[in-house]
Amino acid sequence: MKIVALNTFIVGNPWKNWVFVKLTTDDGITGLGEATGGLATKPHLADVEELRRHVIGEDPRHPERIWYKLHKARYLGVSIGMSAIEQACWDILGKSLGVPVWQLWGGKHHARLRVYGNGWYKGERRPEVFAELAAAMVARGYTALKFDPFGGAYQQITRESEELSVAIVAAVREAVGPDVDLLIEAHDRFTVSTAIRLGRRLEEFRPFWLETPVRSYDLAGHVEVQRALNYPVVLGEAFSELRQFADLLAYRVIDIIQPEPQKIGPSKARQACAIALAYTALVACHQAQSPFCTAMNAHIHASIPNFLIHENFDDNLEPWTWDVLQGVPRVQNGYITVPDAPGWGVELNETEAEKHPYSDTYFLRLFEEGWETRRPPAPKA
Ligand SMILES: [Mg+2]
Repeated sequence: MKIVALNTFIVGNPWKNWVFVKLTTDDGITGLGEATGGLATKPHLADVEELRRHVIGEDPRHPERIWYKLHKARYLGVSIGMSAIEQACWDILGKSLGVPVWQLWGGKHHARLRVYGNGWYKGERRPEVFAELAAAMVARGYTALKFDPFGGAYQQITRESEELSVAIVAAVREAVGPDVDLLIEAHDRFTVSTAIRLGRRLEEFRPFWLETPVRSYDLAGHVEVQRALNYPVVLGEAFSELRQFADLLAYRVIDIIQPEPQKIGPSKARQACAIALAYTALVACHQAQSPFCTAMNAHIHASIPNFLIHENFDDNLEPWTWDVLQGVPRVQNGYITVPDAPGWGVELNETEAEKHPYSDTYFLRLFEEGWETRRPPAPKA
């Protein structure tokens, strides 16, 4: 079996353009992967396009070998495009054998995955707005919700914005009651001292975790924040090397990691899970791309014993999403049932995808006030 074509697609989701990759083999099997970047689109499209010449002619039934070929071709580089190609190869391998990808990884530890909702607070940054939207998610069956209450804060936070952040968390806790888990996202915003002060102020609301309170590369900084708090500090979505997970966990202070399979590739993400296992740590893979990654992460999470919780935006996306992506497992009563279809189980409807083109305004502006609305800015007059 040989790869004979590599095609790319951009789908214009209003807060982040999605990039997809399709590989086609000489016997007609296709594989889907996603190369959606953090907050860039065309660099990742170009990344995949430039890798094409290394991929055409390869046997896709060797996803890890192909990833290492690209790794070496890029002088030991790691990229989202490399991951997308690896993802598409796993899809083809699963389809060629008629089995879901989790089967290839030793079977299932979990038939259902507990989900935390994200992207649900698309509104004004006011406590009553967050509270109302959180209550609506709980009414749909969600038992855990993630949100960033800190507005556009960068490094420090104004006194007024700090008070508002605390009031938002208080209002959400009040609205959802004591039994729903609240995951606080800080998007790498703060210095260590600011993170510790904010983290301590939030303790009374019993957060499930505080995510990336300081820069993701700052392992020692995260360790210091964790030592100051009585609830978990988590990170890992920005890591591109397995060594970073090992270095972090070797402190023996932080015990939840968030590999991003989109960034390091699904195989490397599972290897990060194994490193976590060695330290009795738990895994909650990061996911903020299209629902294709809901399916991919479900296969990964199903196949590891140390799964904690599954990130998900899917109930807060545009209604047309489900015409573009077919086969994604949907959240029901706060859980996802792990899919059984061959490969990842997801297909891209290319005709529907074409109806939603790229826009250079489809980017979150995480360090500007108002980003929570997840809508493009109004055109300048
Ligand atoms: Mg995050």
